[in-house]
Amino acid sequence: MYRDLLADATFHELLLAYDRDLADAARCAGCARCSGVVHAAPYWRKPRGRPRRLGREHDRRYSFCCAVDGCRSRATPPSLRFLGPKVYIAAIVVLIAIMQHGATAPRMRELAEVIGVDRRTIERWRVWWRDSFTATAFWQIARAGLMPPVDPDRLPAALFERFIGDIADRLVALLRFMGPLTGGRMQAR
Ligand SMILES: [Zn+2]
Repeated sequence: MYRDLLADATFHELLLAYDRDLADAARCAGCARCSGVVHAAPYWRKPRGRPRRLGREHDRRYSFCCAVDGCRSRATPPSLRFLGPKVYIAAIVVLIAIMQHGATAPRMRELAEVIGVDRRTIERWRVWWRDSFTATAFWQIARAGLMPPVDPDRLPAALFERFIGDIADRLVALLRFMGPLTGGRMQAR
C-alpha cells in the first residue's frame, strides 16, 4: 500500500501544491531580516524515489532572495518534498523508517528494492531519526506539545500514529508537521 501511494502521481502533485502554497506565503512575508521584497531564486534538485513521469517542476526547490542591496538574505520555505540535503524525497525517508518499526523483513526488502534504496542508506536514516532528528530544536519544542508523550525510540512511527485519516492523509500531516525542519535556517542535515 505504501508502494501504491509512492507510485501515485496525484499524491506527488498534492505535495507540490503544498510546497507552492508554502512558497507563496514566504514570498508574501518578504525578507525576515529587513522586510524587503524577495525575488524567486529556486534551485534544482535531483530527488530520488518518485515516479519518473512527473514533470520537471517536481525537481524545483522553492527559495527566495532578498532584493535589497546589502541584505540579499536567502530564505528557503518549508517543503513537504525535500528534507534537507537528503536525495530521496521526504515521504520515503519517513515511510521507510515507519516500516522498520512494523513491517516484516520481506515486505521491507521489497519496498527498498522497488524504490532502489540500499541498506546502508536505510541504516543512515535510522540513525538520523534516532540521533539527529531527536536533537533538533524543532523536536525539542514540538515533543512538549504531544500528549501522551511520543516514544522517541519509535520515531517516526509513533508520530505517524498520532495523525488520523488514510495513509496519504497521515503522511501529508506528518510532512507538514515536520515543515519547520525543512526550510530556512533550521534545515535538517
Ligand atoms: Zn532583506
